Amino acid sequence: MPSEFALIDRHFRRPTGHTQLGVGDDGALIRATPGMELVVSTDMLVSGTHFLPDTDPEALGWKVLAVNVSDMAAMGAEPRWALLAVALPAATESWVERFAAGFFACASAHGIDVIGGDTTRGPRNFCVTILGEVPQGQALLRSGARPGDEVWISGAPGLAALGLAHLQGRCTLDGEVRDRCVEALHRPQPRVALGIALRGLATAAIDVSDGLLGDLGHILECSGAGAELRLDHMPAAALAAAPEAELGRQCLLAGGDDYELLFTAPAGKGTSVTALSASLGLALTRIGTVTEQHPGQCVLRDATGNAVSLARAGYDHFG
Ligand code: ADP
Ligand code: MG
Repeated sequence: MPSEFALIDRHFRRPTGHTQLGVGDDGALIRATPGMELVVSTDMLVSGTHFLPDTDPEALGWKVLAVNVSDMAAMGAEPRWALLAVALPAATESWVERFAAGFFACASAHGIDVIGGDTTRGPRNFCVTILGEVPQGQALLRSGARPGDEVWISGAPGLAALGLAHLQGRCTLDGEVRDRCVEALHRPQPRVALGIALRGLATAAIDVSDGLLGDLGHILECSGAGAELRLDHMPAAALAAAPEAELGRQCLLAGGDDYELLFTAPAGKGTSVTALSASLGLALTRIGTVTEQHPGQCVLRDATGNAVSLARAGYDHFG
């Protein structure tokens, strides 16, 4: 079995592109670009809670970093540096090699330098700290939504949750639909280009990690506003893919793991958002409106205007 240091050297030390001092010393040295603010965030993934214990190591490596990159996207930041703390039950080389391949594939895809971390023995657990840059004063916050703004969502929310339901045997998906949903779960694509393009356009943003309604709730609480959403205006992919209507609705509205961006923008900016959708080749769907009434809460209506209720709005680790 390799030593801790051999493992780090072999698998987690790679050339960097924009770093003064990377892996190998007691700390890393980085230099922020003049005029930019640093955005810092950390996210932990625990076996059995955030991923199934038998998840393919390469997919896991990708996802561990991708969920952190998604936080940068939600802030309108460009991801630049990451640190990786891992606990592993054993230093199985083949497993670590494939994990690192997935992790660095995501790092390369987003121009991120991996500049440090920590490696210990323990129940499988990954914690990434990520740093990004955003021009001063331009970060997208959760607190800027105002009554009259429109609510938008990127991509096809709900597919990842449907993929998880399939892997857990709660439903059966077939063929292309199955592949697309499992891919959405294992290889989330953080919406970095969208986040950057939303600077100065979106009034608030969040990435959907715990479910669309629950995460919208965070924007509403931080902004002191309410929202009305239309079920029949939602992206229909998850509804169409689910073998059963209630499961589809649950995955669309309360499923986690999509890492799409949910954002608000002034009503007059609708054409700009639509143009952005075309230039990015990414679906952006207007799903509702920010209201003054019932601050912190979201009302969901069907096509006839009747309120729709949902059993579970989002994931809460202690709920
Ligand atoms: P220390 O004991 O001083 O914290 P370590 O032995 O933990 O140092 O780490 C040695 C170097 O390797 C440090 O630069 C650290 O940031 C880096 N490192 C450790 N584990 C990882 C990892 N999983 N990924 C990337 N860098 C790592
Ligand atoms: Mg250490």
